[in-house]
Amino acid sequence: MLASQATSANPNDTIGGDPTAKVGASAPMTVPETLILYFETLSRSLGPMRWWPARTPFEVIVGAILTQNTSWSNVERAIANLRRGNVITLRAMERISAQRLAQLIRPSGYFRQKAKKLKAFTRFLRRDFGGSLPRMFRTPTGVLRERLLQVHGIGRETADSILLYAGGHPTFVVDAYTHRILARHGLSDGKPDYERVRALFERHLPQDVKLYNEFHALLVNVGKNWCRPREPRCHNCPLGPFIAFAAQPKSRLAEVESIL
Ligand code: SF4
Repeated sequence: MLASQATSANPNDTIGGDPTAKVGASAPMTVPETLILYFETLSRSLGPMRWWPARTPFEVIVGAILTQNTSWSNVERAIANLRRGNVITLRAMERISAQRLAQLIRPSGYFRQKAKKLKAFTRFLRRDFGGSLPRMFRTPTGVLRERLLQVHGIGRETADSILLYAGGHPTFVVDAYTHRILARHGLSDGKPDYERVRALFERHLPQDVKLYNEFHALLVNVGKNWCRPREPRCHNCPLGPFIAFAAQPKSRLAEVESIL
């Protein structure tokens, strides 16, 4: 189903090499076809990821800030503290002192800085949108993204996580796992250039929130379980059948670069 939805913005683009060699097809694949093939392969292997694990959009935002530079298990402990303290609402987070907030989120690491970031977001939401998340998320995607990026402590990955997972905006979230997997599969030059990688997905996939939501979550799963920084476990990774593509000559990567 999804293969037919692949965008035809650049139908003649190829990503070079022959990633289909091990999956039975014969012609070189376009970038959209390849991305969709990866997505469908992961979906079949791993099933629905059901992200983001949160009870409310506000909690998604809190989690997106807390997950910076730490593992999700640490975030879960911090969020459990916030829940116990009834602090995962805008009003409660406005009222609590930064010091107390920092103590509650201590398990997530960098807790003093993150308390300041959470406070900065609450001020932004109150000042610019009267404290209303629905109002905030009615802002056009590009405009809201720029405004979020002006808030202390919100970088690209955090802004895109907020847009996609809390607001349902069609923006692709890129992280270290995404960079590593694309680089190893010859789909990027290995430089962790956030905007170029985001463009790769957004220009070549349908603007589909569910697809972006699921695809990012699947890549995270692969990154955590197989695509380790050292000694990737390609032999039993769901993307293992495509890894031969990574051995293509560097010059083929220029084709990918040329379409970005
Ligand atoms: S573990 Fe190997 S096959 Fe899996 S994503 Fe990483 S490089 Fe690709």
